[in-house]
Amino acid sequence: MIPVFTPLVGEEELKNVAKAIKTNWISSKGEFIERFEQGFANYCNVKYGVTTNGGNSSIHLALASLDIGKGDEVIVPNFTMMSPAFSVIYTGAIPVFVDVDEETMTIDVNKIEEKITSKTKAIMAVHIYGHPCEMDKIIEIAEKHNLKVIEDAAEAHGAEYKGKKIGSIGDVACFSFYANKLITTGEGGMLVTNNPKIYEKAKYLRDLALSQKPGERFKHYDIGFNYRMTNLQAAIGCAQLEKIDKFLNIKIKNALLYNLLLKNVEGVILPPEKPYVKNSYWMYAIKIDEEKFGISKKELMEKLSKKGIDSRDFFFPLNKQPCLKKLGIDYQSGENFPISEKLFKQGLYLPSGLNLKEEEIGYICKTIKEIKQGNQEFKNLI
Ligand SMILES: *Cc1c(COP(=O)(O)O)cnc(C)c1O
Repeated sequence: MIPVFTPLVGEEELKNVAKAIKTNWISSKGEFIERFEQGFANYCNVKYGVTTNGGNSSIHLALASLDIGKGDEVIVPNFTMMSPAFSVIYTGAIPVFVDVDEETMTIDVNKIEEKITSKTKAIMAVHIYGHPCEMDKIIEIAEKHNLKVIEDAAEAHGAEYKGKKIGSIGDVACFSFYANKLITTGEGGMLVTNNPKIYEKAKYLRDLALSQKPGERFKHYDIGFNYRMTNLQAAIGCAQLEKIDKFLNIKIKNALLYNLLLKNVEGVILPPEKPYVKNSYWMYAIKIDEEKFGISKKELMEKLSKKGIDSRDFFFPLNKQPCLKKLGIDYQSGENFPISEKLFKQGLYLPSGLNLKEEEIGYICKTIKEIKQGNQEFKNLI
């Protein structure tokens, strides 16, 4: 099976982890933590980094550091991983969904303002599959309505918007280092920001909100969390960071080869890249126009699987997530999100691993063409 993703870890990671173990710094203090925080923040052109134990917790930490909580609302795109919505819910605030743009699959900036109320505190800008959101417009709306902007950049390490690194545009940005992200620490995440207040607050809340007043270490003035990353994970992260540009170039090169081989296949819609962005192509995401392609994406995925090619579905529209019923809010009646629905119906991503070979991409594209052709011939027969 050609997997959807495989991380690349090697000798450098091993050497760093061995050093952490040999020096006995195995918990959340140690040289690699700060080195990784500073190094990754530098990579994003941002002043401060706060490591966490995951991308999901870094989003929650960002919201908590902005004092978002009960009674507040946060704008969240309806097409994304569930994490941003979960994180809003953990704070006691309510996620308010906005449909996405059909081409970029990121939040539709023309539909944000109609969802803003007196309770809205922030906009969650989720960069999808490596393609950045329309950040200028999001910042403009946020300034007009006095809202914060949180970038969920878990899928967009190294991507750029109008020459600016993703992670450096909003008030705060959140990254994941799960095994299938551009760089990995196994599990892990990071919040990055230029704002010293957000930085200090995030570090404090991450570390159980231990009091910094002298003699009061175990007196808590705030509800804290333990979202710390270990020095062992940061040791892996430091080694991965050295290779980030190499990894990014592999992703882009693979995407361009896919594009070249699939561009003339009718019914296959290639991933977007607006002229003013750099797509990091975290996952090579295509859409299938069933009418033109002949079969649905679901059937295509099944047939690819039989040929030893793994693929994954697009996200399920958030407003339809069954768990949201527990909030007692009816997200389904009176609202509709035609683009998220359509994307879910049409979209899949193809193998995008860092050690994917050119021949494998060739085989995958050839197989897609054969499946289309085979179906055509079958239809002509009956
Ligand atoms: C992966 C991902 C997350 C969650 O990161 P974890 O490290 O798995 O907690 C959040 N948001 C998006 C968009 C992601 O792709």
